[in-house]
Amino acid sequence: MSNCNQEHRHWPFLESLPHDQGGHGRHKCAGCAYELGYQSGVRRDEHLHIDLDSLPESQAGTVRHKSPHAAFAQGYYDGVHSSYNGS
Ligand SMILES: [Zn+2]
Repeated sequence: MSNCNQEHRHWPFLESLPHDQGGHGRHKCAGCAYELGYQSGVRRDEHLHIDLDSLPESQAGTVRHKSPHAAFAQGYYDGVHSSYNGS
């Protein structure tokens, strides 16, 4: 599995996500999960699917060991918000 090298690994707000202590998502990049959720939120998708296996792994930055499920949910929420703001 590839490692994520994107800037979102260092987004400060991801610091507040819960830790994934030993779940399936533990090594997945929460930043990528956030962006996936955000895209679904902007589209207001009604059937959500967190495809954990498609996410790259991350071993660095603020997203290390953060819950990708929480990141996806946060991203979805933020995406829905921005869809109403027209941005
Ligand atoms: Zn990433």
